[in-house]
Amino acid sequence: MEESIQKAPTHIAILSSIGMGHLIRHLDFQPKFLITLIIPTDEYIQKPRTHIAILSSLGMGHLISLIQFSKRLLDFQPNFLITLIIPTDEIVVQIHDNMMRSLPAVRDTLRLLNQSNSHPVSILVVDLFGPPAIDLAREFNISPYMFFSTNGMFLSLVLHMPKIDKMFTCDFRDSFEPIKLPGIIPLYGKDLVDSAQDRKSEAYKILLQTFDEYKALDGIFVNSFMGLESSAFRALKEIEGFKVPIYPIGPITQYDKKTEINRPDCLKWLDEQPFGSTLFVSFGSGGTLSQEQLNELAFGLELSGQRFLWVIRTPNEKIRNAAFFSVQTTKRYPLEFLPKGFLERTKGKGLVIPSWAPQNEVLNHGSIGGFLTHCGWNSVLESMVNGIPLIAWPLYAEQKMNSVLLTDDLKVAFRVNMNEDGIVEREEIAKLGKKLIEGEEGEELRKKMKYFKDSAAEALTENGSSFKSLVEVASKWINC
Ligand code: UDP
Repeated sequence: MEESIQKAPTHIAILSSIGMGHLIRHLDFQPKFLITLIIPTDEYIQKPRTHIAILSSLGMGHLISLIQFSKRLLDFQPNFLITLIIPTDEIVVQIHDNMMRSLPAVRDTLRLLNQSNSHPVSILVVDLFGPPAIDLAREFNISPYMFFSTNGMFLSLVLHMPKIDKMFTCDFRDSFEPIKLPGIIPLYGKDLVDSAQDRKSEAYKILLQTFDEYKALDGIFVNSFMGLESSAFRALKEIEGFKVPIYPIGPITQYDKKTEINRPDCLKWLDEQPFGSTLFVSFGSGGTLSQEQLNELAFGLELSGQRFLWVIRTPNEKIRNAAFFSVQTTKRYPLEFLPKGFLERTKGKGLVIPSWAPQNEVLNHGSIGGFLTHCGWNSVLESMVNGIPLIAWPLYAEQKMNSVLLTDDLKVAFRVNMNEDGIVEREEIAKLGKKLIEGEEGEELRKKMKYFKDSAAEALTENGSSFKSLVEVASKWINC
């Protein structure tokens, strides 16, 4: 593996027409190449255009939101030329390492783009793991921006890390004193992002550097909106020594048109269920559970008596809760891991589908009444734009912070309790499932979610805050 990492990756340029379906198909590649995805629009040749390169790290969630972001930019200004650069490698454990190793290849790509293209790249948009490429952008006289695919709360933590680091001597998870950051709800150490948990770790060092790295950006787009986190965004403007403009431009979510032909079976199944009756259960693009936890979830859903649509993944004992970069050692079909007789007992009431669902269309289906989610930010926003309340079951990364925001601040979710062994027991799952779909408290969350649904839609209208933020940047860029 070491060998394959050090070898220069093969460059492949893919010319793709716009459209998620096309993009996803192109992205179904052997993960050993450096892929440059060029998305031309119809005026590609005729006019001088601002060329924006977007550098994406690994992770399906990231990638999906970056693609949506590119599409949104093109909606605004079809004259932009957008290039998506995806440095990939074989089985990486650390996205950051992957980005570092890919820098020479990214430099080559930028050089190549600037040499072989009549439109030199003017803007480089990096994602959360892209800061190592900021200096590269400057080298080529390119203006660096970031697409921060989560929320204002997490950005606030990242930018306050050097200060917080000085305030604590013990590991955050051992501290019972809440961390109070301006404009956001107090956070307990155990809920901070995974990389903050072990102060001796490499990930922690990377997190601490972030403040200085972000200072070199020309702007940060955040996939959130003023109506959701106004106090956080106001406070972000006041951070000492940090003058980079922050643009809340969300929610950017998948908005592909629905196809009536070849509708997936799970949607047809949902057609048969009563309005608002079904709990959708899914843990993002990479979340997995242990076998023990999977059993509890199965029994809990059964016990709840509620209808459910569950996207099940093969359990993973080794790297519990995050299968992004682990190798699946078993070829067994995910449904084989269900408790004996479960499918027969829940027939008609529940549907279990392996690995992947058209989540956006599922959440948009009238039969869905709640979403049990790992709190990945894309999933949260997709639920929000459809007004669906949540059960928060955070697994990894910054998801625990998201769950605090959703439960304690925004009050659109119930959060699961775990036992001493970190297991969410069946009774807990059954109780929350019932409460969310049938209970009065669930109805309260639904009303709150509906409020944010409207507020999100408002932010994206021509007079909305997110629209205006994007216009501000787009008009700057058009003159590049
Ligand atoms: N997703 C999907 N179908 C699935 C699982 C995930 O379409 O079965 C999509 C989901 O709609 C979202 C993304 O994958 O856009 C997951 O991103 P998120 O930030 O929620 O979590 P991550 O996968 O990054 O942990």
